Amino acid sequence: MSETIPVTGRCHCGAIEFAARANPERVLICHCADCQAFAGAPYRTNVMAEEGSFALRKGTPKVYIKTAESGRRREQGFCGECGCALYATSAGEGPKVYALRVGVLAERASLVPSAQIWRDSALPWADSIGDLPAIPKQP
Ligand SMILES: [Zn+2]
Ligand SMILES: [Zn+2]
Repeated sequence: MSETIPVTGRCHCGAIEFAARANPERVLICHCADCQAFAGAPYRTNVMAEEGSFALRKGTPKVYIKTAESGRRREQGFCGECGCALYATSAGEGPKVYALRVGVLAERASLVPSAQIWRDSALPWADSIGDLPAIPKQP
């Protein structure tokens, strides 16, 4: 396993905070339809945390169990106050490996994706936003 770095996560309202060690070489964009729905966005970006490194620092996330087409059950952790998606991990007992939602991490700018998965369900315009007019802030 490559070097991991310390990361900290915080939801928008601040009710939930967590820390973990994340692997900057395992940052993935996911274009699956579930990620599109959960994120309310064209795709979602995740980073894998080192096993056993995830630690809640504040609050208790709400958990929604998603059952995939494969039957695999995954816990989706989110803030029950502001709705921010925080992580996914395996449901039930056993070692938990967390996939952290990069958008809630303070270190997000330096967590650069190395691949995109579920490309078959990518939105047709997902690659072309670089061609759009770019306005620095809310116009
Ligand atoms: Zn919140
Ligand atoms: Zn996905």
